[in-house]
Amino acid sequence: MPLFLYNTLTRQKEAFIPLDENNVRFYVCGVTVYDYAHIGNARPYVVFDVLNRLLRNLFPHVTYVRNITDIDDKIIKASQDNGEEIHSLTQRTTCYFQEDMNALGNLPPDIEPLATEHVTEMKVMIRVLIEKGFAYENEGHVLFSVKSFPEYGSLSRCNHEERLAGARVEVAPYKRDPEDFILWKPSGENIPGWESPWGFGRPGWHIECSAMSSKYLGESFDIHGGGQDLIFPHHENEIAQSQACFGPQTFARTWLHNGMLTVNGEKMSKSLGNFVTIHQLHEKLPGELIRFVLLSSHYRQPLDWNEQTVFQGRQSLDRLYNALRGQELKEKAEIFEPVKTALEDDLNTPLAISALHEIVSLLHKSSSKSEKEQLASTLKVSASWLGLLQQDPENWFKGKTRIDETTILSLIEARNRARVQKNFAEADQVRNELLKAGIILEDGPHGTSWRQQ
Ligand SMILES: [Zn+2]
Repeated sequence: MPLFLYNTLTRQKEAFIPLDENNVRFYVCGVTVYDYAHIGNARPYVVFDVLNRLLRNLFPHVTYVRNITDIDDKIIKASQDNGEEIHSLTQRTTCYFQEDMNALGNLPPDIEPLATEHVTEMKVMIRVLIEKGFAYENEGHVLFSVKSFPEYGSLSRCNHEERLAGARVEVAPYKRDPEDFILWKPSGENIPGWESPWGFGRPGWHIECSAMSSKYLGESFDIHGGGQDLIFPHHENEIAQSQACFGPQTFARTWLHNGMLTVNGEKMSKSLGNFVTIHQLHEKLPGELIRFVLLSSHYRQPLDWNEQTVFQGRQSLDRLYNALRGQELKEKAEIFEPVKTALEDDLNTPLAISALHEIVSLLHKSSSKSEKEQLASTLKVSASWLGLLQQDPENWFKGKTRIDETTILSLIEARNRARVQKNFAEADQVRNELLKAGIILEDGPHGTSWRQQ
């Protein structure tokens, strides 16, 4: 079966035919580096990692580009708030991001360009846009004139009024039309900037992706991915800039967008106090479990992160790893066809995961040692398409006992209370529970301390 992907541009599932079958080219909007990334940020990177793995299994060569936005007003604000040099802030938080991506089991992209290293390419594009009459300069700003590009809105399918009502459009004196968006803006004192024909300034966010994708993937390429929240205005603006610059029918052919993530049924926000970073989660949970939960819903559906989904994910992974435990793996194994079929049907990861469980059921039914080993090998190979089940099962079960500090401290407190009440049986029970989780308690003159076994 060929690969089918849902294209946001046409609102339908389409058979995917690459422009060059010897080099499938795809671009995913990367992270803006100024703090730890939250779990909502993790979803597209895990989803598109599965796409990357799938394409690599189906085609001889893939070029996957995911940028890093290291110049942005949020970065400038964070650096001022922290009293930290911009470069040190972006380097530090880029490292956090790479650690998070590793923890989630994502393969690195082939090219991970930094926006600040591509300002020259952005300036060239902006110049062409001005020359072609799609952009204009005003008060040190360069703006893209939305009216000059009649196809604007083809991805989000919103008309002019709907877009203006969306309130994401900022009115400013230097704009001819409120909808026009910034390609270049002036940088004041102590704000990073570059010399340009329009004065000392810095690029707008949207032009970054147009410039970097065309540099590494060409004026036309196969797939562009990102979260649904990027459809408008970011991706709409990318299309306008790139097609205005390179001509109609250029830029990405297939647009993929993942659904949004909520935490306990609510949109994540710092003010609601439900803002969870990947880093915080990984202190409590194995990276593979976080990955698994993110893949447990279809990527276009919303996904709620809650205790129940994490619990189910853990049980599911336990069953899968348990099937691999103690099995001698065969050298040769093929993917289980239903796993492949599910992934080829617009990355249906929940169906692919149930197909993995089907292999486990077959394995449990089998009484032949050799057949069990063959099925375990099929399981491991099939799961590799999803970036799952690649660690030693014993590691997984050891990792499972990871327990966070807050829980340990509250259990120590419970034990102390029990001891004060001379309820030594309960105190011992708490100690043994922690010991099972690999935590050793030591009672000293200054109270109880703990250490990992
Ligand atoms: Zn982008």
